[in-house]
Amino acid sequence: MLQNDREKFLKQVFGAGSFDSRHINFIARCPNPKCGSHLKGKLKFAIKLDSFFTNCWLCGEKHKSLYPVLKKYFPQHLKEYIEKFSDRKDYIFDDDEKPEEKKVELPQKYIFLPEHINSKDPDIRRAILYLKNRGLTIKDFWRYNILYCDNDPIFSKMVIFPSFDAEGNLNYFVGRKIDKNSYIKYKKCDYPTNKIIFNEYMIDFSKEIIITEGVFDAIKAGENAIPLLGSSISVNSLLFYQIVKSNSPVLMALDKDAQEKTQKIAKLLDYYNIKVKILEFEDYNDLGEMPKNHFAKIRHSARKFSQEENLLRKIQSL
Ligand SMILES: [Zn+2]
Repeated sequence: MLQNDREKFLKQVFGAGSFDSRHINFIARCPNPKCGSHLKGKLKFAIKLDSFFTNCWLCGEKHKSLYPVLKKYFPQHLKEYIEKFSDRKDYIFDDDEKPEEKKVELPQKYIFLPEHINSKDPDIRRAILYLKNRGLTIKDFWRYNILYCDNDPIFSKMVIFPSFDAEGNLNYFVGRKIDKNSYIKYKKCDYPTNKIIFNEYMIDFSKEIIITEGVFDAIKAGENAIPLLGSSISVNSLLFYQIVKSNSPVLMALDKDAQEKTQKIAKLLDYYNIKVKILEFEDYNDLGEMPKNHFAKIRHSARKFSQEENLLRKIQSL
């Protein structure tokens, strides 16, 4: 990216500013309202032109990228920043969030379920039956690399859905108890859900992304569906970053009873000029309980989200 574009962008965001004598930093007023350099004070907020590292010489606010600064003070410029000047490598969510050093590791003992379809083991048979009852086919077992864990302090008697990043490395997994009466139904691995995109290697961000609640919903939706797994989408999530970076249209297909969460995410994405549609569930409560071909039938009647329409619906429901 040309230095010129960076300078132009900084002037757009920070308004008046100047360059230091060696033309390494752009110096502006500090965006922090509590800082003496904010309104009338001297220019104290330095932004390195090559790396976008920032540092206020007065209040000490310091960041390793413009991301946290724009997020906090200039959200209207965040999209352009993501699109033009940042990439995943140097993209830091927030300075107080240290990069994850934890590694995701599968439970101790598991089997690759598709290779045990004809097993006589009663537990394995129950696991297969459970998945079939939820509408999954053997093809799905292969496609989603479904595992079964027989013996583990945490994940025993669970089917496991592993997730892989864009390079094909394990980045997450979630387990589901096969016993319907079990108190705990799902168990997620110990890793922040907002820092991963579930099965990212299967996702084409140049096409419409379907956002679902759970992993069964995503499987029912078929292509290009991402489960949130109880998490949400915020400016701090990797999924948000990738959607904005790719300008992907989004179809919201969270559970029927999650309207509030749906609206919140739709509003956020709409603010960043992402095209958002909302699925109308009609007689079903979630994607998971729909027959597989039903989603294909109703997805085209999803309604476009807009702030005006959103407001109108609120008024009508009063
Ligand atoms: Zn400052």
